[in-house]
Amino acid sequence: MAELHVSILTPAKVAGTFSAEQVQVPGIDGYLGVLPGHTQLISELGVGELLVHTRQGIESYFVSGGYLDVGEGNHVTILVDIAEKPVDIKVDRAKDARQRALSRLDDKSGVDVLRAQAALRRAEQRLVVAARLSK
Ligand code: ATP
Repeated sequence: MAELHVSILTPAKVAGTFSAEQVQVPGIDGYLGVLPGHTQLISELGVGELLVHTRQGIESYFVSGGYLDVGEGNHVTILVDIAEKPVDIKVDRAKDARQRALSRLDDKSGVDVLRAQAALRRAEQRLVVAARLSK
């Protein structure tokens, strides 16, 4: 069966390359699945968990700020500002960030609500990805 050739790139490094059966990426309006033979497309990504299904198992990354490029020959490039594996994520830091965001959203006065909501989403999604370590 044809496989995807997946590259996960950030400005700093190649975060991962895989032969994969499927990837699930966090789009702007929900998750998008890519299988071999998918139509070519470029799509903006949201914040969340990227899942790469390989024969060996599932790889999980927290990703934020970027694009998905599905090109010819089953080449899938995920170009993101941030790509963190479960081991990279500091759980206490994410919990603190979540608490800070929740307090700001509670307080409301003078708070940049969109910014606080974005920080909350980053923290929550980091905690989702970090939880994969204990599964
Ligand atoms: P914080 O308030 O803790 O800085 P943040 O959501 O504002 O969180 P980002 O803007 O998403 O942080 O990321 C800034 C930098 O900090 C990035 O390099 C990111 O990889 C790193 N980072 C943020 N949170 C964590 C975490 N919980 N574990 C590991 N690295 C983190």
